[in-house]
Amino acid sequence: MKCQYLQGCPFYNDKMDIESGLGKLYKNRYCLGNNTKCARYMVCEQLGKEFVPIGLYPNMHEQAEEIILKHKHQ
Ligand code: SF4
Repeated sequence: MKCQYLQGCPFYNDKMDIESGLGKLYKNRYCLGNNTKCARYMVCEQLGKEFVPIGLYPNMHEQAEEIILKHKHQ
């Protein structure tokens, strides 16, 4: 399923630096595939868009979890 954040997402819109082959792979895997597994999506859903760091890539699950934990416990 397509991610509902496609339009405004800096990753999907090539605003983030990424090796092109890998970018394509992630877009297929996350943005057009299983967006609920995307690190950016996870933070956005749990905390809100403003909590998603600029450099967070879809595969950075550990970082996403840390961010979520940190802010949920405040
Ligand atoms: S799956 Fe993640 S990277 Fe892709 S559009 Fe959605 S929030 Fe952005």
